[in-house]
Amino acid sequence: MADTPVPPLRVNKLVVAYLVVVHALAASAFFLPVPSYALPMAVCVYVALGLGTTVGLHRLICHHAFECPRWVEYTLVTLAMLTGQGSPLLWAATHRIHHAHADAHGDVHSPQRSFFYAHLGWIIDDGSTGSEDWKTWCRDIVGHRYYHWLLRYRLVPQLVTVVVLGLVLGWKALPACFLLPMVCWMQSTYLVNSACHVPLLGVRPQSTRDQSTNVWWVSVLALGEGWHNNHHAYPASARHGWKWWQWDPGWIFIRLLEQLGLAWDVRVPTRRENEAPTT
Ligand SMILES: [Zn+2]
Ligand SMILES: [Zn+2]
Repeated sequence: MADTPVPPLRVNKLVVAYLVVVHALAASAFFLPVPSYALPMAVCVYVALGLGTTVGLHRLICHHAFECPRWVEYTLVTLAMLTGQGSPLLWAATHRIHHAHADAHGDVHSPQRSFFYAHLGWIIDDGSTGSEDWKTWCRDIVGHRYYHWLLRYRLVPQLVTVVVLGLVLGWKALPACFLLPMVCWMQSTYLVNSACHVPLLGVRPQSTRDQSTNVWWVSVLALGEGWHNNHHAYPASARHGWKWWQWDPGWIFIRLLEQLGLAWDVRVPTRRENEAPTT
């Protein structure tokens, strides 16, 4: 990839403006009166957005790591959409391209280009993805009308949530209770693309063709997504933390769904495939 000419950044000013506004509004939480319930609510919001993303968008939609009822799928996806990440059609296309070309020519977000580009640059770069990539990469989910609706109205779930919470809790409570945990989760997901492809920041117990890396502190922040070398070795696994000590709340949540009868055909690697989980 280093020998490939790097195309110039085609900055999307609307996306930049959106990111600046949500980060600035989130930061205002530190200057506004904070209600007593703000901290527990912020933690709940962070975990809900996180599980929607890691369990719903990533493990379920992108990798079919398990099966579940349609209402569970749509609930998880809608939670993920509250961070403005875009329809599952866009998200899955980008992510599947990443897996197909990880750290090589064609990867959407590799630190081989620069750490900043992998973290945030690709999001503001109109040249990083194609608006119709999903037609090639997401044939398995093109039948969902809801996902096509989200393609056109990707910010609607987020805007509706902001308005409802603003009216119910009061506008001064909104940054601490929703916007700050939302932005923190966005940054945690960005770290999976950036830090978890920098071998210096972690370990690579699995032999993969890319630079994917297990970074424990990203797993703490991103609810198990930091075991990224494990994930690239066996992308279809619902479980990212393979050892008992590898913190993976996404896996715990899937197991909970399974025990409630809301998830089945849960896929995990066999011992032969990857020195499988010890628990
Ligand atoms: Zn990766
Ligand atoms: Zn993946």
